[in-house]
Amino acid sequence: MCGIVGVSGSPSASENVHQGLLILQHRGQDSAGITSFDSRTAKFHTHKDLGQVSTVFSAKDLSKLQGDVAIGHTRYSTIGEIRECDLQPMMVGYPYAVAMAHNGNLSNCVDLKKKLTNLGHFFTSDNDLEVLLHLLTLNLSQAKENVFFDKLCTAVKEILHSAEGGFSVVATIGGEGMMAFRDRYGIRPLIYGVKRNEDQSLSYCFSSESSVLNFLNFTVIGEVEAGELILVKPDGTLLKKSLMKSGSLPCMFEWIYFAGAESKMEGRSIYETRLKLGRQLGQRIKNDETMGAVDIVVPVPDTSRASAIALSEELNLPYREVLIKNRYVQRSFIQNGQDRRKMTVNLKFSVIREQVEGKNVLLVDDSIVRGTTSRKIVELLKEHGAKNVYLASTCPPIVSPCYYGIDFPTTDELVAFGRDEKEIETLLNVERVFYNHVSDLSEAMDNASFCKACLNTEYPYPVREGHRV
Ligand code: SF4
Repeated sequence: MCGIVGVSGSPSASENVHQGLLILQHRGQDSAGITSFDSRTAKFHTHKDLGQVSTVFSAKDLSKLQGDVAIGHTRYSTIGEIRECDLQPMMVGYPYAVAMAHNGNLSNCVDLKKKLTNLGHFFTSDNDLEVLLHLLTLNLSQAKENVFFDKLCTAVKEILHSAEGGFSVVATIGGEGMMAFRDRYGIRPLIYGVKRNEDQSLSYCFSSESSVLNFLNFTVIGEVEAGELILVKPDGTLLKKSLMKSGSLPCMFEWIYFAGAESKMEGRSIYETRLKLGRQLGQRIKNDETMGAVDIVVPVPDTSRASAIALSEELNLPYREVLIKNRYVQRSFIQNGQDRRKMTVNLKFSVIREQVEGKNVLLVDDSIVRGTTSRKIVELLKEHGAKNVYLASTCPPIVSPCYYGIDFPTTDELVAFGRDEKEIETLLNVERVFYNHVSDLSEAMDNASFCKACLNTEYPYPVREGHRV
């Protein structure tokens, strides 16, 4: 999972993108980058590096990113080591100069790369963005249309046809403007908005989350639809076309965990949905006659706060924030490698002993993926005197990998795979574990359609041998 931002038609495009990336920092902390295009000099400028947005860009770096179009990226690596050659945005120079950034995964990346390599393409990274870039330039070089937008439609349609996975893309094409498109199921998010500049010209912004548009004072136009292409030309004209829509399956995990609580996706508030999920979980627990006494409801900060508050209201129990998070340690789920993840969890939380000692604690988390964080937190609470610990997850059991950009790589690593609730309770050392059901999640999402393949194995694309997770 990553965060992407693109701004066109603004003299402070890079500055806007930088602010947007700071807001999207929770979507990835491995690296950050911005590429701008200056139409006066017809030059691209790029700055990208490993690390968080605040450390990657100095004021001097930003001042060099001149131009009225800029795209940016903050990276959470789901694939392999974090290497400098994988940093985004990436660029190619022929037949058009294109800089591109994306959020997502191509599940058939290996096959596509093989085909391109056989055609003489050469790759310098393991990043599937490079495959998307090569596909675009290959298709552009083969498209016969005279009008650039028509040519682009043909090229992107071909990508949507051949590339499987979840991906949202922003790109700037030298002299032609800024473009954005989304996979044919709309799995990964992308929203856009407009703002009128002082000179009455129009500026457009694309972003993974609506919070960026709100912060930068853009008026939300809507989501880039599944399989839709949008081009904002240098004169501010916006052209869009639906090229290939197979359905609407936005990733449910955005509402559960990934997106900022202040954002809206597909018109649905992240915060409101988390409140609903908490209420539903509360009802499940209320209706369970075998459930023991609970003294306090405790959220695992930060994502589960809204759900834990709603759950405590539903059960009429005190809500207590007894787990204190060290804000300078990165989110444990988005750390690569199990060892790094374990170490992060150890550093991450402190417990207020006097609030926990002798208490029956109902711990609320957004999800239980590998169980690493949950197990450690339960251990911490018990070390600090908790009598009993019950664990409630707003997300239903995750039983299958994600091929579309979320780091649930193998079934073996998923605590709920092949285990019943009793076995999970034993493994996590809790008295009881409660999950929302898939039907609760659907209800909280107003019965809209969304991707839930990691919960029920109903993948939108066929899963083949060698699919990349
Ligand atoms: S498989 Fe799960 S995590 Fe992956 S896109 Fe679908 S809902 Fe999201």
